[in-house]
Order: sequence, then C-alpha cells, then structure tokens
Amino acid sequence: MATMRLADNAYDVALENFDAAADVLGLSNDTREMIKYPERILTVTVPVRMDNGHIRRFEGYRVQHSMVRGPAKGGIRFHPQVTLDEVKALATWMTWKCAVVNIPFGGSKGGITCDPKRMSPGELERMTRRYTSGILPLIGPEQDIPAPDVYTNSQTMAWIMDTYSMTKGYPIPGVVTGKPICLGGSLGRNEATGRGVFYTVEHACEHLKISMKGATVVVQGFGNAGSIAAELLHKAGARVIAASDSTGCVYNKNGLNIPELIQYKSSTGRVTGFAASEAITPAELLATECDILVPAALENTIHADNASAVRAKIIAEAANGPITPAADRILQSKGTFVIPDILCNAGGVTVSYFEWVQDEQHLFWDAQDVYNRLERVMKTAFRDVLKIHVERKVPMRIAANVLGIGRVAEAVQIRGIYP
Ligand code: NAD
Repeated sequence: MATMRLADNAYDVALENFDAAADVLGLSNDTREMIKYPERILTVTVPVRMDNGHIRRFEGYRVQHSMVRGPAKGGIRFHPQVTLDEVKALATWMTWKCAVVNIPFGGSKGGITCDPKRMSPGELERMTRRYTSGILPLIGPEQDIPAPDVYTNSQTMAWIMDTYSMTKGYPIPGVVTGKPICLGGSLGRNEATGRGVFYTVEHACEHLKISMKGATVVVQGFGNAGSIAAELLHKAGARVIAASDSTGCVYNKNGLNIPELIQYKSSTGRVTGFAASEAITPAELLATECDILVPAALENTIHADNASAVRAKIIAEAANGPITPAADRILQSKGTFVIPDILCNAGGVTVSYFEWVQDEQHLFWDAQDVYNRLERVMKTAFRDVLKIHVERKVPMRIAANVLGIGRVAEAVQIRGIYP
C-alpha cells in the first residue's frame, strides 16, 4: 500500500536502537558483543503438497536472539514480506520486550515467506506441520516457545502443538502459547496484546493529562492487536474515528461503531465498505488529526516521508517496528509522545508467559485473574520506562531499551562467558 515502505531494513533499525540505548547505559564492548546478535538462526525448506497435487517449496525461519534470562519466546509470522532480516529484528525486539516487562524469557521469532490468504486450510495445515518438524530441534517448553503473530492464530498453534507432541509421543501443551483454551490455552490470551496496548494508552493519557473520554483514536491495522485495542478504547469512552486493514481505510468523524466493525470484519474479512463510514487513503489515515494513533500492522509504516504529516499527540505502537529511526527523530521534534513497541505491545507475551506458567502447573486461572495480573505488569513496566524517560531526558523508545537491554546486560554479566 502507498504508506508502506520497505526501504528501512528492520534488522538495521533494531541494531541502531540497540546502540542508542547501549550508549546511554555506557555498556562495554564486551557486553555488547555478548548480547547484541542472535544466538541461533535456522532456515528451513518447507515443501508442501498443494491442493492441485503439485509440490511447492516455501522458506521458513526460526531465530533465537537470546536465552540469557530464560527460554526464548516469540511468535510465528506467515506473510509474503517475511525475510530473515525481519525475523532477526523481531527476535531481537522480543528479547528486550520480555526484559522490559521482567518476565523470565529471552527472545525469538519465526516466520514463513508465504501468502496465507491464497492458501486453503489444508495447505496451511500441511505447511505449518512441515515447518514445525523443520524447527523441532530448536523448540520446546524449556527452550523456545512460539506464539501467534501476523496471519497465524490459535489454530496454527494447535497444529504446532499436535505435531510436536506426536513426535515426542505425549502431549506437550507448553511448547506453544496462544493455543485454543481446550488444549491448555489461557483465558485472556487472545485479547492480551490489545488489552496491554489499552493499559499503556491509559497511563500515557494520565501522564499527559488527556482525558480518555472523547479522545480521538485512529487505528492502522484492524487485526488481533488493533481491533481489540480499538474495542477497549471505545468502551472507555474514546472515539475511534478511523481504522484500516490491508484492503483500505474507513473514517467517520463522529466515531466508528467498533463492536459492529469487528463483526463486519469477521464476516467479510475486511473493513472497507463498512456502513456509516467513508473511504480514505492510507496516507490520509496516518495524517488524520487525533489524540491517539495506533499503528497495528507491520514495520516501517511511519517513515521519513510521512512522519511530518502525522498529527497525533500519542502514538501507541501495537505493531512491532512501525516507526523508522528517521521518523522517530521527526516525531520527537514535534513533541509526539511515542509508547514504544517493546512496552506498548508487551501484553501479548506477558499473557503468553501466564499461559506457559499455567501449563507447567496444570492449574488454570480465571479471566479476571489474568487481566489483573496483566494490568499490574503493564503498569509497573510503564512506570519504570517513564521514570528513565524523565530522569535521563531520553525519548520513551530509548528509555524502554535502556530498561530491557540493561536487564539482559546485568544477567549476562552475572552468568559470565562459557567456556
Ligand atoms: P493480525 O494478522 O491479526 O492483523 C494484522 C492486520 O494488519 C490485519 O487486519 C491486516 O489486514 C492489517 N494490515 C496488513 N497490511 C496492512 C497495511 N498495509 N495497512 C493497513 N493494515 C494492514 O496480526 P496481529 O497479531 O494483530 O499483529 C499486528 C502487529 O502487532 C504486528 O506487528 C505484530 O508483530 C504485533 N504484535 C502482535 C502480537 C499478538 O499477540 N498478536 C503481540 C505483539 C505484537
């Protein structure tokens, strides 16, 4: 789409963000050498018999960036634009994210370069199972635990759990999170990322003295993270005036009816054509004047060429890496308050951690328990990042990286180097 630009390599962005925070922390070169780069990278060929009888080869990846603070944790993405560098970037961000919310995990990520929208359920199942068998040596509840990401969901996780369990010979639900509830999933996991985004927006509004009631919101990417954040903001009295997905954008200056838009999207697979809305372009959506802009699709949405058009007071990064470093600098000079991805969308991995804990204990919590624990974790993380932002006078992104990278650096220094 016109607003998406892939010129910025996400992994270069991840390394640049690392260096900025490492400089603030005054990290030694030795420590940087030990924590900056992925520990393991696996590329797998995934041959799949398609419905037409022919075999098609896909390329899949699993990157474990860090296991310094615990088993690696990170989602799996199915998308035509998946590259190894993108997966490396996403794995790196997972490491700092888990450390920001102080859960005992490192970071990883996986992906397959494919177009799942043009594949049948049978083709998707065969591709997922063959990919799982390819990455089997790396994953496991004590090693590396996948979860859903863009265009993967609880069904994908069920296939991974089943493939892994059949290979080992007994059920191992803790190998993935974001599973269906009947297989050991956690209540509240499906909406956890959006809920976490909501909590961080609440805290940001409080900090900036913006009333949530009547605040205007724009959501780019009306998928799992974006639609749930929109729903909770709508319930809290905010007015979601624009939303988009890969098919286009809808706008209503009086506010879109979000519960109805969610139903419409689930029955038609798109937001475009929604009643009581007008169509706008992706560029217009990002330039819409609003209190809160929630980019919730892919990387590089806000870049050097469109950042100055953004008129939001707060940007809540539900997506990973939606703002390039050049755009960050422009937004900073405009005084935009950015809630960085590794804080803003950390609700997903936090409830994934809760799911893993419940699976390990074979003891399950009710939804309210999950929400309360999530709220506590997000509140603490927001407060910790804000404190660094205020005390060190650094942007929120650097503050979040300082917190996360600082914790990983401390852990690696105490562990020392093997051999
Ligand atoms: P999803 O597949 O549920 O939704 C993605 C949405 O983005 C879809 O509605 C799609 O139509 C839309 N989209 C794709 N390209 C677009 C474009 N060019 N313009 C506008 N919309 C576009 O995925 P998700 O799980 O909600 O993930 C979205 C983002 O949130 C990703 O960056 C992901 O890494 C991040 N994230 C997700 C989770 C999670 O638990 N699901 C956790 C942390 C971060």
